[in-house]
Amino acid sequence: MRAVVYPGSFDPITNGHLEIAKEALKSFDKVVMLVADNDAKKARFTTEERFEMVKEAVEGIKGIEVYMTHGLTVEFARKIGTHYLLRGIRDDADMSYENKYAELTHQLDNSIEFIYIKASEQFKGISSTKIDEMAKEGKDISKLVPESVKKRYEKR
Ligand code: ADP
Repeated sequence: MRAVVYPGSFDPITNGHLEIAKEALKSFDKVVMLVADNDAKKARFTTEERFEMVKEAVEGIKGIEVYMTHGLTVEFARKIGTHYLLRGIRDDADMSYENKYAELTHQLDNSIEFIYIKASEQFKGISSTKIDEMAKEGKDISKLVPESVKKRYEKR
């Protein structure tokens, strides 16, 4: 069983994130989306809310599981017996950020292998920040996020 951990803030999850997870399922038996509970980043949604939105978004997709963690991603990966981490790349800024993230991660665990998947033309312009701005301006986000996220914004 080949599993890959897909760590992220998912604040909130977008169709861009989802596309990366689904794409990875073509090469892995299991994609474990790991919702980070990191205090350093000021989140728009609580960890539980972010976790619930991801869980609802992947309901019925065989092979995608969702967890949240307070700890280190590398420790989580070790616990589930994989050394693969999945990340999505939209542009040069992502690439540069991911290089630094990989460097830091390798200081913790040098056996980690990164799997990078490029965003499609359709979704490369989407970010959680953009979604949040659009939702706050009352713009239509329904084609850019799963239903669970749309519902959550409507409740706010
Ligand atoms: P983090 O805080 O760890 O960067 P994010 O939730 O912002 O968490 O992103 C998680 C991963 O998903 C990152 O690798 C990011 O580049 C990628 N990602 C974010 N938005 C998209 C998108 N629209 N298409 C493809 N990948 C994306």
